[in-house]
Amino acid sequence: MITVTNLRKTFHTPLVQEGRFSGLRTLFSRAYKEKEAVRDISFEIESGEFVGYIGPNGAGKSTTIKMLTGILHPTSGEVLIHGLSPQKHRRRVVGKLGVVFGQRSQLWWDLPVKDSYEILIAMYRVEESVSRRRLGELNELLELKELLDMPVRKLSLGQRMRADLAASMLHDPDILFLDEPTIGLDVVAKKNIRSFLQTLNQDFGKTILLTTHDMDDIEQLCKRVVVINHGQIGYDGSIDTLRDRIGLPTMMKITYRGNINVPASWDLPFRVVGQEANVLTIACNRQELKAMDVLRIVSLWGDMDDVHMEEPEFEEVIHGVYQ
Ligand code: ADP
Ligand code: MG
Repeated sequence: MITVTNLRKTFHTPLVQEGRFSGLRTLFSRAYKEKEAVRDISFEIESGEFVGYIGPNGAGKSTTIKMLTGILHPTSGEVLIHGLSPQKHRRRVVGKLGVVFGQRSQLWWDLPVKDSYEILIAMYRVEESVSRRRLGELNELLELKELLDMPVRKLSLGQRMRADLAASMLHDPDILFLDEPTIGLDVVAKKNIRSFLQTLNQDFGKTILLTTHDMDDIEQLCKRVVVINHGQIGYDGSIDTLRDRIGLPTMMKITYRGNINVPASWDLPFRVVGQEANVLTIACNRQELKAMDVLRIVSLWGDMDDVHMEEPEFEEVIHGVYQ
């Protein structure tokens, strides 16, 4: 269980002075620029949940994850992982966490991947028989064989991400924090990583917090999303409720046999957005109106043949939250 209470992080960066001796003056100046990267956020994550943590660039996602993992100290507020603070009880908490930063490998750049694994296994004090079995399992799920003898710097981005994911699992943590693990990957590599994460969550019961810009990742993996913008949580709930809340219209395409007679002046509870030959396109908000109610009305306008409904794209929904 993860509990985040009134968490804040303000960065103070020295204000850069302009003009002559600017470098020196910057060094001695007391002028700081403040950046409230995370402002008073609270949430809880239960064991076994798969939560998407999303928001535009600079929203405060990575800063949050760094506080969750103990890398950064909060300005105020508290993080508890199974009742322990990752800042105060770093050693005990680290053993329960796996972390992947897609932008930066945790592995040693010039070492063969398997050497990095050996170091990590020693650091986490994983017993040899256990680590051998675990590497075998990870190898099966992530197909690591081809890359174990390669130095990290020679790996493709997709291989590197697989290597990093395996590294984060060597000590069998029950919580995973993943900061953009699919960034820059092609469709196939993304698919592989998604299915790995799904297995971890569904079959092994791992709790996962995932940051991504890829809305397909979110839709396919997460039941719950937390949206952060300007350091504040704008939404926390299910994807479906998010769709409804934003209230983007559902598009309905109704095909008629023969003519369509749309009454010229009628106060309609939906919008007619187009008519092409025998196909009528209407937009309605499904929160306000049931599809049956729409059909009852449009069936009066001609001989209905077929109805096609399109729910709003998740990408558009998210765009609505950020504004
Ligand atoms: P995200 O991961 O959502 O893109 P970040 O958490 O990385 O956002 O950053 C949130 C804000 O805090 C940004 O405005 C960023 O420039 C600022 N920031 C992040 N790290 C630092 C730092 N070490 N020093 C100063 N400002 C920072
Ligand atoms: Mg980030």
